[in-house]
Amino acid sequence: MNFHGHQIIGKTTSAESGETFTGIDPRDGTVLPGEFHEATNAEIDQAVNLAAESFDTFRHTSLEDRAAFLEAIADEAIAFGDEFLIRASAETGHPLPRCTAERGRAVNQARLFAKMVREGSWVDARIDKALPDQQPVPRPDIRSMMKPIGPIAVFGASNFPIAISVLGSDTISAFAAGCPVIIKAHPAHPGTCEAAALIIQNAIKKCGLPDGIFSLVHGRSARVGTELVKHPKLAAAAFTGSLNGGRALFDVANARPVPIPFYAEMGSVNPIFVLPGALEERADGIAKGFIEALTTGVGQFCTNPGLVFGIGDNSGWDTFRSTAAELATEYDPQTMLHSGIHYAFEEGVKAMQNMGGLTLKARSIREPVEQKSEAACYLFETDSEGLLDHPQLFEEVFGPVSTMVECQSPRELEAFAEQLDGSLTASIHGTEEDLETYKNVITVLERKIGRLIFNGYPVGLDVCDSIHHGGPYPATCHSHFTSIGTRCINRFVRPVCYQNWPNAALPPELQDENPIGIMRMVNGERTRSV
Ligand code: NAP
Repeated sequence: MNFHGHQIIGKTTSAESGETFTGIDPRDGTVLPGEFHEATNAEIDQAVNLAAESFDTFRHTSLEDRAAFLEAIADEAIAFGDEFLIRASAETGHPLPRCTAERGRAVNQARLFAKMVREGSWVDARIDKALPDQQPVPRPDIRSMMKPIGPIAVFGASNFPIAISVLGSDTISAFAAGCPVIIKAHPAHPGTCEAAALIIQNAIKKCGLPDGIFSLVHGRSARVGTELVKHPKLAAAAFTGSLNGGRALFDVANARPVPIPFYAEMGSVNPIFVLPGALEERADGIAKGFIEALTTGVGQFCTNPGLVFGIGDNSGWDTFRSTAAELATEYDPQTMLHSGIHYAFEEGVKAMQNMGGLTLKARSIREPVEQKSEAACYLFETDSEGLLDHPQLFEEVFGPVSTMVECQSPRELEAFAEQLDGSLTASIHGTEEDLETYKNVITVLERKIGRLIFNGYPVGLDVCDSIHHGGPYPATCHSHFTSIGTRCINRFVRPVCYQNWPNAALPPELQDENPIGIMRMVNGERTRSV
């Protein structure tokens, strides 16, 4: 596949800047074909203006037309063939089957959103008919529903080049809502981004939609993303990535003369609590599951478990620690996504090695190869004092490293749960009796965590209606919202209320006859009837 490396602005391309960069294969440092041009401020301006111009047409498309568009994206992603996956594999070091699985997730996700959009009830239509005799004051006819907000900037993450990038849930949910999208391509997989952009352009053409609803700009410098977020015609941005990047852009979004929502999904520490009853029953099995979760994808998951808590006066805890240590030594070092992430991982591990009170319990036996950006698995351990002395351990180190913390009592576990920052997940391994004994820990976790997992592991999540992938800061910048699953459409819509509006002039979703047959809240009752 040939890559032009230009900005994609609607149906045109542009390469005003002579400043270019390339994709790199992290497995051996090979420079991959294609020169990608840094977007200029004028190109960013053009892309957002075009999106703003296309917004009114796009938002007035029918639910059926928008559903058909999402299905066309899914079909085009399959029809595009495997070259796209081969490039994604080369740009990230992910094995090809992982990239194929990611495409499967992206395709299923687009179809799931199509189903939701077509059904229509997601617009949350509410109707309160006029009550002229209401006391103390009469009520006018009041109706409201969710409406799209405008052009959305999308920043994908390096670790999911297909499923959380150009074809990811941010783009799909923005389109589902009726919002145009401008992608800031991830500089670690620019070729994959260009190929995915072609897939979306093919779907736009097939469905006869305005070409301005989709643009993509490249950039390796923070300027490109910053200028995009500052653009006055942007309505919101969705970001998946590091705490540093997410926080910096969140601050830019809030410092604008007109602040806009900045939905940042960032990393977290994803604690695992291994309770005594479960340890007695299956310490070995839990340790195996933990190391598998820690090392899958070279530990490069936002749900990677960075802390494991157990109770010390329990032989099962010793079994858990020694089995986990044995499996960690057996882990064969693997290539990380790019040299920058590899460097940050090595620095993070080095800092942990220098922390007093923290012991390196195990490390992959095979020496990682620096030139291949390989990461070994590291397992540290400490006690409650060690953790209290090093609050940095509550922060994510992105990669296959985790710390096992030995506590002495349910109260100590509860105190640590209280110290946790907001996190995407927490996993509890226990019996029903454990849940009773440790109920205070669970009560604390409910305040801190997006997804609570019982007798399972945080890595891997199903894209469905009920999933929640979010959590209090620093897991995200808006704890009310998810970035995965159909509910994430709520980030790109806002309620619009119509008071005493003539029936024929209302959107179909709010008309008396309920012409599209959606579920609505009418005078306080959920119903599909009129
Ligand atoms: P990243 O370095 O923060 O990059 C994400 C995107 O943001 C890139 O396009 C990057 O472009 C841009 N960016 C970063 N800092 C910026 C700044 N200061 N100003 C303007 N743009 C900026 O993250 P990553 O390395 O790709 O991904 C790894 C991280 O993502 C991990 O921490 C992981 O836990 C997290 N993650 C979270 C989730 C989730 O759903 N919560 C999912 C996957 C990954 P430039 O490189 O050009 O700056």
